[in-house]
Amino acid sequence: MSELQSLVEETVQVYRDRFGSEPEWVAAAPGRVNLIGEHIDYNDGFVMPMAINRYVVIAGGHCEGAAANLYSVNLDDAAAVPLDATARPRAMHWTNYLRGVIALFAGKGYVVPGFNAVVQSNVPTGGGLSSSAALEVATATLLESATGITMDPVEKALLCQQAEHEFAGVPCGIMDQFSSVLCEQNHVLLLDCRSRTFEQVPFMNEDVSVLITNSGVKHELSDGEYALRRKQCEDAALALQTESLRDVNLADLLKQKDAMDQTIFQRAHHVITEIARTIAASEAMKTGQWNRLGQLMYESHESLSTDFEVSCKELDLLVKIARKTEGVIGSRMTGGGFGGCTVTLVNSEHLDDAMAAIAAGYSAETNIQPAMFATHPSQGAHQVAMTAAAS
Ligand code: ADP
Ligand code: MG
Repeated sequence: MSELQSLVEETVQVYRDRFGSEPEWVAAAPGRVNLIGEHIDYNDGFVMPMAINRYVVIAGGHCEGAAANLYSVNLDDAAAVPLDATARPRAMHWTNYLRGVIALFAGKGYVVPGFNAVVQSNVPTGGGLSSSAALEVATATLLESATGITMDPVEKALLCQQAEHEFAGVPCGIMDQFSSVLCEQNHVLLLDCRSRTFEQVPFMNEDVSVLITNSGVKHELSDGEYALRRKQCEDAALALQTESLRDVNLADLLKQKDAMDQTIFQRAHHVITEIARTIAASEAMKTGQWNRLGQLMYESHESLSTDFEVSCKELDLLVKIARKTEGVIGSRMTGGGFGGCTVTLVNSEHLDDAMAAIAAGYSAETNIQPAMFATHPSQGAHQVAMTAAAS
C-alpha cells in the first residue's frame, strides 16, 4: 500500500471514530519542493517545483447546522468554524487556512453545506515544503466535492493563495498553491510567474531520486531579510530603469555594474542568472541531461549563497557534503533560505548510502541529525474515490 493510501485509511478511520459515520468525500493535496528558480517568483521569473509524496488528507461529510466541525489529527485539536465567518481572524490558528477557503468559496456564490472534517498530514510543517498551501488546496478540493462544482485549476490555486494572504497574513507568491493544484506525477511544473502559464516537463527517470534534507535550523532573520530582498530587487529594477528584472539580460546588467551599488548589483545578478538557469534546467530535463541539471543546481546554490546571501552555514555544509557524496548529481538550498531544506538529485542505486553519508557528515559537524526523505514527482491535488478509501 502506498504512503498516501495508508494516510487516507487512517484519516477515514479517525473520521468514523469521531463522527460515527462514513465520510462522504476525501481529498488529498501534496506539499512541494522547488527544484530550481529561487527568489524568482516575485521577480516575474520562472520556477520549477514538483509535488512531493507527502500529502494533507481531509475526510469530510455533511452535518446539521451552519458550521464546519474540524479536527486535526496532527495537532489533536478540534474547532468549529461558523460558515458565515468571512472576516479575517485576528489570532493565528490552524483553522484560518480552512476558514479562508470556505469564506472565499462562499464569496464566489457557492453554497457550502455544514460539514464535519478530519485533517491529517505527513507534510512536515514549517519546513518550507508548503504544508499551508497543501492544507488550503486539500480544503478547496474537499469543498469541490461538498458543493458539487469543479473549479478551474488556476482559479482554484488563486483562491487558495488569496486565503493565505487574507486569512493567514502571509504575502506568498503563486508557486505553492499552483504546485499543489497543478503538479502531475512524473512531471515538474515549469511555471512562468509573470503570465501564470505553465508547462508540464516530464521527469520520467526512476534511476534519479529527489532527496529532501532538513537542516533542522531556521534562523530568526528570515522574515526581515525576505522583505529586504524584495526591496533590493525593486531597487535593482529601478536602477536599471525597468519594470522588472525579468526583462534585463546579463550583458546589460554587466554594463551597469560600476554605476550600481554593489549589493544591489549582486541581487540583480542572482535573479537574472537564476531565471536563465531555470530555463536551462527545464531544457536539460527534457533532453535527459541529468548531469547538466545537477550542475545548474550547484550554480543556483552558489548564487543564492554568494550573490543573494540567503543561505547559511548549515545549508552550505549540506550542499558541500552532498557534492562529495557518491551518486549525488546536484544539490542546493530550496525555499526562502536561512535554514530549512536542501534538495538533492541522487542516483537511485546510491540513495541509501548517500543518505547515510550526508546525515553522518552533517551531524558530525553540527550535532543535528537531519530529517530526510526521498521522493519522485507526485500527483497533485485530487479527490480520493471512496471505494479506494474504504477498501
Ligand atoms: P509551511 O507551509 O512551510 O509548512 P507555514 O508556517 O506556512 O509552513 O504553515 C504551517 C501551518 O499550517 C501550521 O502551523 C498549521 O497552522 C497549518 N497546518 C499544516 N498542516 C496542518 C495539519 N495537519 N493540521 C493542522 N494545521 C496544519
Ligand atoms: Mg506555508
